[in-house]
Amino acid sequence: MEEQTSFRERSRAERARRISLQKKRRREARRRGLLILIALLMVWGISRIGKGENGRRAGASSTSAASSTESVSTTDVESSTNAVFETDLSIDEQFLTPNPYSRPGTKLENVDRIVVHYVGNPGTSAQANRDYFERLKNGEGRYASSHFVIGLEGEIIQCIPLTEISYASNDMNSRSISIECCHPEEDGKFSPETYDALVHLTADLCRAYNLGKDQVIRHYDVTGKICPKYFVEHEDAWETFLGDVERKLGK
Ligand SMILES: [Zn+2]
Repeated sequence: MEEQTSFRERSRAERARRISLQKKRRREARRRGLLILIALLMVWGISRIGKGENGRRAGASSTSAASSTESVSTTDVESSTNAVFETDLSIDEQFLTPNPYSRPGTKLENVDRIVVHYVGNPGTSAQANRDYFERLKNGEGRYASSHFVIGLEGEIIQCIPLTEISYASNDMNSRSISIECCHPEEDGKFSPETYDALVHLTADLCRAYNLGKDQVIRHYDVTGKICPKYFVEHEDAWETFLGDVERKLGK
């Protein structure tokens, strides 16, 4: 009797132990399952965020990617203002003092044109024309400037950073880079040095903004103003110039 009782008790205890062990295992399995599920959700979430970033970057063209996600909504702005302008020309940066008349500091939004001009003042130097733009800050009431001025010897002065608009091309100001060219005579024909620098600078800008020669225009093409005079009066010379830019771009 005693033997039997103890056996029964032992087997009951054994069964209880087994059941509790099973319960424990089931609990652990559940917890493991939950952890795996959480881990999978995290991996999925991270991969989605990663894809989103890549998508935006891809949309931001070939320029350096924006460093923070804050600039996401201004992708186009980033892509044009961060354009990588590389040149082996020697460019003298003499930025104008910010002022409402010649350097308003307005952000240049999306460059899709290069606009060529002539200064219209025979024999003046790039420096004299840059200094004229600078003096406009005193408030004569005239609004004018240019990103670049090319002088009679082919020297180049940059007056406005490429991230800001210039006051040169009327309706095109918000989407273009402007180049003013000096000329020895009234006819507006550029010296060979000025011409070569203009071809070179225009080609380097086209490369930076991924533009073709049909996106290089004259001030005349915007407003009908006779500027640059020689290229307006000699259509063939303008076509030759565009051909030279294209050839330079091809190299
Ligand atoms: Zn002009």
